[in-house]
Amino acid sequence: MVKINCPFCFLNCPLTIKKEKFKFAIHYEGPLCARGNTIPILLDSPKRLSLPLFINNGKKEEKNFKDVLKELVKDLKTYKKEEVAIGLDAYLKEEDKKKIYSFFKSFGIENIFSSYLEPDIFFSFKANGVKEGDLEKIDKADFILMIGDLFGSFPIVARRILKRKYEDKNVLLYGIDVFRNRAAGFTNQFLVPKIGTELLVLFLILEKAQIIKTKGFKIEEIEKLSGINPFLIELYSEKILASKNGVVIISLESGKSFEPILYSLLAQLLCNKKTNLYFIGLKNFNHLPLAISFGEILEKIEKGEIRVLINFGSILSFFYPQVYEKLKNCEKIYLTSFYQMPLDTLSSIYLLPQSLPIEDKNLIPPYSGSRTISEILEEINSHLKIDIQDFDYLKEKVYKEKDILERFNNYLSFYKENKERIENNLVVVGKREPFYFLELFEKDNYLYLKRERETKISLPIKIKEELPENLAILELEDLTSRRYFPISLDEKEKFIIINPLILE
Ligand code: SF4
Repeated sequence: MVKINCPFCFLNCPLTIKKEKFKFAIHYEGPLCARGNTIPILLDSPKRLSLPLFINNGKKEEKNFKDVLKELVKDLKTYKKEEVAIGLDAYLKEEDKKKIYSFFKSFGIENIFSSYLEPDIFFSFKANGVKEGDLEKIDKADFILMIGDLFGSFPIVARRILKRKYEDKNVLLYGIDVFRNRAAGFTNQFLVPKIGTELLVLFLILEKAQIIKTKGFKIEEIEKLSGINPFLIELYSEKILASKNGVVIISLESGKSFEPILYSLLAQLLCNKKTNLYFIGLKNFNHLPLAISFGEILEKIEKGEIRVLINFGSILSFFYPQVYEKLKNCEKIYLTSFYQMPLDTLSSIYLLPQSLPIEDKNLIPPYSGSRTISEILEEINSHLKIDIQDFDYLKEKVYKEKDILERFNNYLSFYKENKERIENNLVVVGKREPFYFLELFEKDNYLYLKRERETKISLPIKIKEELPENLAILELEDLTSRRYFPISLDEKEKFIIINPLILE
C-alpha cells in the first residue's frame, strides 16, 4: 500500500494505491473525481510507452534510450543555444519543473516556455490588488459566485460548495455560465449570458457596483449588446457589495470564451479592495511565469529561428493541428511521453517514455522502460557536465485596472464586429465532463442537432436539451475533439487561445 496525492489538479487529493494480484487498486481516503479514479488504469495502461520511438512520416522505429539521449546531447552541442527550445507541459512535479528550468538555463538556453495549452494558465495574470483566497474560504463564505462550469471541471470543489450551502441556508450561491450547467439547480440565482457576452456581463456588474471607473464607456450600448436583464445585473452587484465574507470561484475551460485572459481579470476585479470577496481561480497545475510564451516559440519555429524542440511532461498540446503544423519547420523534436500517442503526421520525432509524476522508486515503481525526469537529466549531464545553478522564475504579471479596461475595450470592438456571426451560427464550446450529454439525433446515417431544426452535422457533438438555441458542446476529454477548436494568438501576451468554434 502506498499513500500518494493525485497529480491531476491543484487539489492533490490523498489516496492509497495498492497492487492487488496483477493490477493496481485505489483505497479511498476521501472522495476523488473521475480523473483521480483513473489512476490505477493509467498506471497499468497497455498504451504506456515502454521504449523510445523514432517517428518519421508515419513510420515508427524502436530505439534505445541511451542512444536517443546521446543524439539529443549531440544536437545540444551542435545547434546554437538560441536555436533550441525547451517546453514544460502538464503532469510534471513542481520540483521536476524547477530541475528542468535550472538545468537548461544553466546550459545557456533562454527559450524555455510552458507548452501547456489549457486556459487555467491564464490565472498567472493578476489584476492589481486582487485578494486571493484558498478553498478554506468557501467553508466560511456568506456569498459564493461560481463562474464557469465548476461542477464539470472540478466536482470535488463543487462538493465543498454544496456542503457550505446546505450547512447554512443563509449562504447565497450565485452562478454565471453560457449555458445552464449542472450547478444551476443548486443556486439561488443563475445567470446565462449569450455566448460572447459573458465578459460584457461581468463588466456591467463591476460598473453597477461602482468597483471600476468606466468613464468613456457607453454603458447603455454595452447593456443593449449583452441583452441581459438589467434587474439581474443590479441583483448581482447588490449581493456582491453586501457580502461580508464571500468568494468568486472561476473555472476557465478550453474553447469556452473568446477572451479567457480578460474573463479571469474581470472576475478578479470583483475581489479588489472595494468588496469583501476573495478570488479563487481553479487550476489544474501551478504554472511558472516564464520569459517566453508558446505563441512566440511557434513564431520563431515558423521563421526557422528555432530548429530543435525538447518537451517534457504531457504532449496533449501537440494534438492541435495549428500547433503541429507549425512544428513541421523544426528539424529535431524530442518529446517525453507517458503514452504511445498517434503523432504520425510529424517527421523526425523522438518519443521518450517518461514515468508518471506519482511513479518514483520509493513509491510506485516507474513503468517498465520509462525514466523519471531526474534520470533523464542526469544521463544528459553525464555527457554535458553542466554546472547547474538555481534560477528564479519571473514575477507574475500584474494588470492595472486601466490596462484591463483597455483589453475590455478591444474585446468590445471584437464582439461588435462578430456579434451577427456569433448569434446567427451554431457555436460549439468545450466541456470537460464526458457523462453529461444526451445523444445526438441520428437519421439516414447523419447526425442532426435538433429534430425541429434538423441541422446536418459531421462533428461528434453531443447536446443537452436545454442548451441555448445556437450553442452545442464538444467533449474535450476525447483527444480527437481538440482539432476542431480554432486557435488564435493573444495579441499582447502571445499566449495561445483555444476559441469556441463558430460553425458557419
Ligand atoms: S479533484 Fe480530481 S483531479 Fe483533482 S486532485 Fe482530486 S481526484 Fe485528482
